[in-house]
Parts: sequence; structure tokens; C-alpha cells
Amino acid sequence: MSDRLLLHACCAPCSLEPVRHLREEGYEPAICWTNANIQPAAERERRFEELERWCAAEGLELIRAHEDTAAWERGVAPIGAHDRERRCRACYGLRLVEACRVAADRGFTHVATTLAVSPYQLFDTCNEVLERVARPHGLVPLIRDWRPWYAEATLRSRELGMYRQQYCGCRFSAAEAALDRARLRAERHGSQG
Ligand code: SF4
Repeated sequence: MSDRLLLHACCAPCSLEPVRHLREEGYEPAICWTNANIQPAAERERRFEELERWCAAEGLELIRAHEDTAAWERGVAPIGAHDRERRCRACYGLRLVEACRVAADRGFTHVATTLAVSPYQLFDTCNEVLERVARPHGLVPLIRDWRPWYAEATLRSRELGMYRQQYCGCRFSAAEAALDRARLRAERHGSQG
């Protein structure tokens, strides 16, 4: 296949099933890491290092692109917790524009994102953003729905002993995930009482 695909990756566990499916389709993707959203910085490094280990084991090219955390604070953080759709749209945009810039610079023809495997992401919003930012860079957005394989990805990543994070990436998502866990715990206790 002459198509060259750059796959934006949010983390190692979420890369497992997209890469498996893309290889079945005949693509050999290069992986692009650009996730200015992940906080704190130590958490971002931990996720990147896990991806780096896995890419090396799989023989996948890994490109670490620029991460403009100041732009994230200016363009995404002010939206805050009250409008998740708008916040995530801006966050996807920042990361996918950078992935597209790298793809266009390096002669890739197609672009995709592992965000499309997680049921916790805003699937339609993410795809809209990918469509919008890929075309002006002369790239074909590869839109796929890998969410049916999320459970498989969870299982495989556990078997591989991968680091699995508890929240999407930003401080708002960390707080939202902690609230969700507390609510679930309260519901479990309630149903036992
Ligand atoms: S929840 Fe995830 S996608 Fe949304 S703004 Fe936070 S890090 Fe970005």
C-alpha cells in the first residue's frame, strides 16, 4: 500500500486495537505523540514512556511532536468544567492540528487518532475535528470506530502489564473521573445497604 498513515496516539493501551486493525487493513502506521493536555507533566512522561516501550517492541516508528502546554492553557483551560463538549473539541483541535502539521511535513498521506477507541471520548466531536483539520493539510482523515474493541484493549493492556491511567488527561477530567468513581462507590454501598 502506498498510503502513509500517521496515527496520533493518546496512550499505549488505546493504541493496541487501532494498530492491530490498521495492520489488518494493510497500513503500517507511524505513531505521533502530541498530548499537551496531559497533566501533571510527570503523568505525561509516564504515558509517553509506556508508549515508547510498546512501539519499540512492535517495531513502530514513534514521532514525538511539539506539545504547546501554554496554548492548551490559553485555548482550552478557560472553557473549564462547565462545557465539556466545547473544552474537548478545543483540546482535540490543538493535538490533531499538530499531528497533521507533522504528517504534512513528513510526507504522510493519511491521518487517524487512537482517541476513536475509547467510549469515554466524544466520538463524533473528535471525528468532526479530524475531518476539519486534516483536509487543509492535504491529508485524508481515516475515520474508524474501534470502540467495540475497547474491552479487548483493556484486557490486552492488563495482560501486557501496561500502565493504565485513571483519567483522560487534563485536571478537569481528573476531577470528573474522581467524582464518577465516588458516585459509583456510593451506589454500590447503597445497593448493598
Ligand atoms: S477531558 Fe480529555 S479531551 Fe477533554 S479537555 Fe480534558 S484532556 Fe482534553
